[in-house]
Amino acid sequence: MRAYNFCAGPAALPTAVLEKAQTELLDWQGKGLSIMEMSHRSKDYVAVAEKAEADLRKLMNIPQNYKVLFLQGGASLQFSAIPLNLLGKNPKADYIHTGIWSEKALKEAQRYGEINVIEAGTTLNGKLAIKDQREWNLSPDVAYVHYADNETIGGLQFAGIPEVDAPLVSDLSSSILSAPIDVSKFGLIYAGAQKNIGPAGLTIVIVRDDLLDQARSDIPSILQYSAQAKNDSMVNTPATYSWYLSGLVFEWLLEQGGVDAIHKINLEKANLLYGYIDASDFYNNPIAEANRSIMNVPFTLADEALEKLFLKEAEEQHLLNLAGHRSVGGMRASIYNAVPLEGVQALVNFMDDFAKRNA
Ligand SMILES: *Cc1c(COP(=O)(O)O)cnc(C)c1O
Repeated sequence: MRAYNFCAGPAALPTAVLEKAQTELLDWQGKGLSIMEMSHRSKDYVAVAEKAEADLRKLMNIPQNYKVLFLQGGASLQFSAIPLNLLGKNPKADYIHTGIWSEKALKEAQRYGEINVIEAGTTLNGKLAIKDQREWNLSPDVAYVHYADNETIGGLQFAGIPEVDAPLVSDLSSSILSAPIDVSKFGLIYAGAQKNIGPAGLTIVIVRDDLLDQARSDIPSILQYSAQAKNDSMVNTPATYSWYLSGLVFEWLLEQGGVDAIHKINLEKANLLYGYIDASDFYNNPIAEANRSIMNVPFTLADEALEKLFLKEAEEQHLLNLAGHRSVGGMRASIYNAVPLEGVQALVNFMDDFAKRNA
């Protein structure tokens, strides 16, 4: 049986997608070979790759003046690729700091440019929150403003899209496709696939055309957005299987009714879990309501000494990967698109039972 998997990443994939991949694994559409064994330049593979891009464009309503790139190196390589591609003419950028991932991004960027760090974390009635944008000290003349929409480790998410004059660059690794967004508000969006898209090994970059000529000239061609755009993300061999499987996830999402439909379910899941935690004296979530992530829900138990037992019993109930990130401890339930409402219901039932037995 398949357990409910609350892993933060690599994360749960829709069972229907894995089943489809399984039926096609040895013999893709009667061609006598696996998609993994095909040339990335073959007509068949190129059609798979193009279909995945077209479906992602449909799901996110991506305007024509944006390129969609299917790259490798994870979101972490983009921490370097972004400044290398965007600070070639103007070396200045603003970075909004809200947690561990935005910090990693700005640390890499500091090697390549003049980075103005905006400390946007704060507390509201003892809960972690993101400062109102009017309290940020944005610079007047930067090449871009970077932020991480959803801090996967802390479970802290922006309540909306910041309004800035410079091109907005967002790390959407753990929130892409979880809710509708207006892509035209961004200069660049990037996301590692292994949270809410597909398997590890693939990174999606969505970049506005006019930003393709801002790169330094001394960077590897693999990292150049313009070169990747010109070569349909095939400057070298792409992560063909991850790309194919992500394409199956996009098809699955379209079948579910698209991003609006999955967002409704995501809200239902998040409300169920946060609602239960808030009503309980046994569990606690440290984030102010407006900035709670709908994808990653960290929580603590009344008694830290019960954590091991909690995880062990959860696993026995087929509720997997609930330990918080190693840097912060506690618990974390990642409830990405592929985690069904029934999974969250099962989690809440278990949490309630555990609390009653251990309070
Ligand atoms: C997981 C994650 C990353 C790192 O992704 P890799 O693909 O492992 O490099 C970066 N940013 C956010 C917000 C993440 O959740």
